[in-house]
Amino acid sequence: MTPPSCNRHKNLQMVPFSFVDPTGKVTGHICPVPGCGRLHDKQGYFDVVEGKIVRPGSTKEISSPLKEQILNVIRSKAQI
Ligand SMILES: [Zn+2]
Repeated sequence: MTPPSCNRHKNLQMVPFSFVDPTGKVTGHICPVPGCGRLHDKQGYFDVVEGKIVRPGSTKEISSPLKEQILNVIRSKAQI
């Protein structure tokens, strides 16, 4: 599968990430641009803003451990 490109940075391919959600393991892709942090999974693009998963049309609270996992992924991937 070809990685999707960030919908803010269309010339860039996103890099793979995974974290464990209460519903199971989530795998997807993340934009490597510092300060962007756009994520993409099988449901589409989303952001993590102030501990919430924000998708177009919906916002879902996430637990602190999950938030930490996602932030760690963002930090590690965004340093390219
Ligand atoms: Zn981006």
